[in-house]
Amino acid sequence: MDVCPVDCIHPRTDEAAFETEKKLYIDPEVCIDCGACVPVCPVDAIFQQDELPAEHAHATEVDAEWYRTRGAPGATTDTDASPGDKDPSSTPPARQGT
Ligand code: SF4
Repeated sequence: MDVCPVDCIHPRTDEAAFETEKKLYIDPEVCIDCGACVPVCPVDAIFQQDELPAEHAHATEVDAEWYRTRGAPGATTDTDASPGDKDPSSTPPARQGT
């Protein structure tokens, strides 16, 4: 998502993982909680951490684990080692709370 000023939403469309992942992941360690991604999400799947619906409470950890597993942003693996549910409606990325 080009709107992110710190490039912490991956995979980007120019990264190989974009073709295989079913959702985008926000790196909670890098996110500066600017809110720029919220209004541009086409499926309203991004929430401020303190506004994250209870049914998606695990989303931040899912995203953090994706970055821990993948290493550098955009990195790919030979296997489908992506953690968690890839359905964007069930695991929306959550911005880092302040
Ligand atoms: S809130 Fe976080 S993920 Fe969203 S655009 Fe800002 S820095 Fe990027």
